[in-house]
Amino acid sequence: MNNFSNSFSRRSFLAGASSLGALYAAAEFALPLPALARPLLDDPRIAAQPIADKGFASIRKIGNGLYALISDRSKGMQTRSNGGFLIGRDAALLVEGFQTTIGSTFQLETLRTVTQVPVRAALNTHWHFDHTLGNSVYGGAGIPIWAHADAATRMAAYYPKWQSQDLATYLAPWEKRVRDAKTDSQREHAKSDIEGLTGMFVPVSQTVLALPNHPLDPAKMPMEIDLGGLTVVIETYIGHTDTDLIFRVPDQNIIYTGDLLTGGQYPVNINGYPTKWRATLAKFATFDKNTLFVPGHGQVMGLEGVAEMRSCFDDLAEHAEKSYKAGVPVEDAMEQYIVPDKYKNYRMFSWGFTIGRTYEQLYAEWSGKPVQILNYS
Ligand SMILES: [Zn+2]
Repeated sequence: MNNFSNSFSRRSFLAGASSLGALYAAAEFALPLPALARPLLDDPRIAAQPIADKGFASIRKIGNGLYALISDRSKGMQTRSNGGFLIGRDAALLVEGFQTTIGSTFQLETLRTVTQVPVRAALNTHWHFDHTLGNSVYGGAGIPIWAHADAATRMAAYYPKWQSQDLATYLAPWEKRVRDAKTDSQREHAKSDIEGLTGMFVPVSQTVLALPNHPLDPAKMPMEIDLGGLTVVIETYIGHTDTDLIFRVPDQNIIYTGDLLTGGQYPVNINGYPTKWRATLAKFATFDKNTLFVPGHGQVMGLEGVAEMRSCFDDLAEHAEKSYKAGVPVEDAMEQYIVPDKYKNYRMFSWGFTIGRTYEQLYAEWSGKPVQILNYS
């Protein structure tokens, strides 16, 4: 493209953008807190306006020295997961590496508009691609990357292998499942798995990996971090993965949970442990009634969000149990689950890695077999 057409298209783009901008401003006025659930609109801890907004994510103050990054996947997948940062008198912590370096750059640059204190660490809540692929930005800035001691091992077990493959080879066995499907719904479900897998494989293949370089020993948790007037407690739970960490600020009843807690979507059990996960959520339900959660995906929420996720899990488990007791083989049972009306707007990573995986693992537990982690590599 030559300079003339470049500047021309830029001008027409800007002309279009300014009228769009007016539209978005009007929409934002009508919906001042798109990243919040209704019951939290009046919570005095939460700022009405974000301090930064890129469309794909906005960052907002949610407490003293505490900020939440909330992603909006409808406007881009640069962050994909939520995150945030915690700032004390002496130091700060960043939460999550996101799906791309654009996402982690946005978070780091926004932190620097608020404070110049040293960043002690960037924390990954778990090893998944949408929480870690932007880590190299932190590494390049000399910020150590902290995660559960097994997080780097899990990443190394999958991601470099995918980087040496091409997408068609990787997907071949999954394409076969689509061709072999016996019913329309089975075919649609199998297609959704291909979409989910592609959505992981592609960003991984485009990324220079930066593994966590500061393993946190789960045996030494809970672990307290003093940032100067702000104490953060790191705790470990098993659920969404076997490397899940949460970051609690007990003085303010605010918690960053990673994907142990998500809003508006079915639990992703691709590497999950549904029974332990449900026990973890039962524990969250006992936290102080004013607890504010920054979930891994979805809006900032209170205990009502924990209750909603638990009831979705209950629904899945009840249906699975009915089928199990009736002797329906698991591969048929998982296809028969019907999404209830109240969850019909829930997002699914894919059918197989939410519904299917949960059924398979519950069946395995009930029949006394060890829980299998799906081979999707
Ligand atoms: Zn995850």
